[in-house]
Amino acid sequence: MTEAETPRTGKRVLLANPRGYCAGVDRAVQTVEEALKLYGAPIYVRKQIVHNKHVVHTLEAQGAIFVEENEEVPEGATVIFSAHGVAPEVYEQARERSLRAIDATCPLVTKVHHEARRFAAQDYDILLIGHEGHEEVIGTAGEAPAHIQLVDGPDSVDQVTVRDPEKVVWLSQTTLSVDETLETVARLKQRLPLLQSPPSDDICYATSNRQHVVKEIAPECDVVIVVGSRNSSNSVRLVEVALDAGARAGHLVDFAHEIDDAWLTGARTVGVTSGASVPDELVQQVLARLAERGFADVEEITTADERLTFSLPQELKRDMKAAVAARG
Ligand code: SF4
Repeated sequence: MTEAETPRTGKRVLLANPRGYCAGVDRAVQTVEEALKLYGAPIYVRKQIVHNKHVVHTLEAQGAIFVEENEEVPEGATVIFSAHGVAPEVYEQARERSLRAIDATCPLVTKVHHEARRFAAQDYDILLIGHEGHEEVIGTAGEAPAHIQLVDGPDSVDQVTVRDPEKVVWLSQTTLSVDETLETVARLKQRLPLLQSPPSDDICYATSNRQHVVKEIAPECDVVIVVGSRNSSNSVRLVEVALDAGARAGHLVDFAHEIDDAWLTGARTVGVTSGASVPDELVQQVLARLAERGFADVEEITTADERLTFSLPQELKRDMKAAVAARG
């Protein structure tokens, strides 16, 4: 249907931009795809490569096998570590099993690992703000377990104990709510006025940009639909941010068919966005479903221009080059 033919229903969609894939997710998914091409199936992937059902199922169909731990990978096979990062002991286990390990950890997560190691080497107490049990937090904490304690949001601040209040630093998971983290830090600083901040933001550009644009559109929205999986931290945060910023309702869906028509009853403006691990085809399917229900008028609201890309892991690039050279 052309724009001229689109019926004017008074209903509209505000489509957030930036949304969806970030540089780290793009790199991690490409890592699995290129490894499948280079080494052939199966390729083992420790944990979900990124937290998105559709991505995981698509890669499974191409020959990726997702496992929870290295011990499920046959000796000598290829294993890829997910974008969320792993503790040093996981590399060690891979060496012991003679696995060919390819590390798809996002470089922005690796940066937080480096900070953790550096401050631990200087004997700091490190307060890691993050969600208990999240893979990224487990990986980062594993860099220096004796120095790191988890702070899971503002309500956990009272449980913090440190050895020397003059030698404490906070770091964070990359996919947190920016506003909630600021609140946690403010409360920590009330208790520990000399608390140091990370050398640069740990919450990554993709997380902040996606939250920022949702804050812009949410006050105008009767409902905000976030495309993303329930175990995706940054997707779940987008629903919370939308509600905090004034959206009257917010829902997380993996797929368009999960949209309940009751959510749209009486709505004039629907906001749409997606988490950093979501391919845009899933958003397009959501837009198509909304169009069928009278929400064909889509206005894209852009608040940032993202151009960051990351190159593939060195170990994979090296083998890709060698394969090209061998073919002559
Ligand atoms: S959300 Fe941020 S930290 Fe996570 S993979 Fe994407 S760019 Fe990296």
